Amino acid sequence: MGELKTFKGGTHPHDFKELAKNQKIAECDVPTEVIVPMAQHIGAPAKVLVKATDEVKRGQLIGEPAGFVSAGVHSPVSGKVKKIIQCNTPIGTTCQAVLIENDGKDEWADGCNVDTDVSTLSSADICKKVAWAGIVGMGGATFPTHVKLSPPPEKKIDAVILNGVECEPYLTSDYRLMLEKPETIVEGLKLLLKAVDCKNGYIGIEANKEDAFRIMDKLCKEMSGDGITLIAELLEVKYPQGAEKQLIKAILDREVPSGGLPMDVGVVVQNVATASAVYEACSKNRPLTERIVTATGDGVKEPKNFLARIGTPAKYLLGKCGFKENVNKLIYGGPMMGMAHFDLEMPVNKGMSGILSLCNAEVYEHRRCIRCGRCVEGCPQQLLPSELSLVIESGRFNDSKDINVLDCIECGVCTYVCPARRPIVQWIKLAKYELNRQRLRAAAKEKK
Ligand code: SF4
Ligand code: SF4
Repeated sequence: MGELKTFKGGTHPHDFKELAKNQKIAECDVPTEVIVPMAQHIGAPAKVLVKATDEVKRGQLIGEPAGFVSAGVHSPVSGKVKKIIQCNTPIGTTCQAVLIENDGKDEWADGCNVDTDVSTLSSADICKKVAWAGIVGMGGATFPTHVKLSPPPEKKIDAVILNGVECEPYLTSDYRLMLEKPETIVEGLKLLLKAVDCKNGYIGIEANKEDAFRIMDKLCKEMSGDGITLIAELLEVKYPQGAEKQLIKAILDREVPSGGLPMDVGVVVQNVATASAVYEACSKNRPLTERIVTATGDGVKEPKNFLARIGTPAKYLLGKCGFKENVNKLIYGGPMMGMAHFDLEMPVNKGMSGILSLCNAEVYEHRRCIRCGRCVEGCPQQLLPSELSLVIESGRFNDSKDINVLDCIECGVCTYVCPARRPIVQWIKLAKYELNRQRLRAAAKEKK
């Protein structure tokens, strides 16, 4: 194998994928009650459309998008609305959620779960279906997919890249999807290409998933044609190879400018699970009501990859894996970019590719920076994390803007490699939060 494509910087954490990688996707039974949050995406939370005692069907819209950058929310079961509650979100906020009693009948709403010939769909039809289905970035970013498919006319898209890298340690949901339902991914990629009127599709896969690569490579070759070129790219194993900007650099050797977006260099990036959901929405009229979730870590007896309904409480999934007593950390997502949380009732949402239960998570105190430079060397965005940490630790949030805090992709490499255990990425998130608050306050003042 020649030299594999990659990006500058990054690190090599142990991936712990051996725990769940050989577990086939298992359909998780649906609990008697599901909790369906209205904030499962970046942008405005959806507005609740139902009330207590309403009967609902699977796929029925129960939360309408509150603006263009928002996404609809659909009932994952048929049953009766018990009440509207407040629920925790993985990022530490709360949102409205619909608590639904599952009647066990799994009846679909009118118009859902009906086959459609995708070849009849125009680019506008595909975008409409994607918005209708409430699809968001399922790799964890949760950006509404229809927004990414609607770039301004001056931003011509000439490449769509699917992220099949799954570089977060422990997680294996995308890997299993590539092994078990590869056609849905490549069909989804073709629909995404049509949606943005583009001919070149890529699927990036790390070299530690060579079996998945071989399957995707064969399918890409078979399904290319009619002016469409599909290419599976084997990439170096390095974290965060799956980050949008790093994926674009590795595959196309293009650099997204500071403060810019992939569309500024003619690219749309989507996760492989998102592409599969696009295919399900377009070919079967199925809104997004389920996803694959890896439940893993040394805090469960038998790690698994579940096909779980949105709204299934984490406790339910972990219970199916044999939850151990002495768990000391629960993380929604992977250990590098996921969020530690206390709430076991928090439900599966559209962006949740994994739930991690750990028994031996370290608790430590940070020390002063020893200027070793490891964080600078590892930063895939070529920032100065050590400087950012010093500026933010002393509360100078505005100064952090001058050293490009907003270009940080929150990958956590700096925190991972730091021998002084400095919580650099956590400080960076705090600074971004404060800067955003200042921006919103200033905008509100201007409106008055
Ligand atoms: S500063 Fe941001 S982009 Fe750079 S390593 Fe740290 S978290 Fe990643
Ligand atoms: S890795 Fe940690 S100790 Fe080393 S320069 Fe960066 S912040 Fe300082």
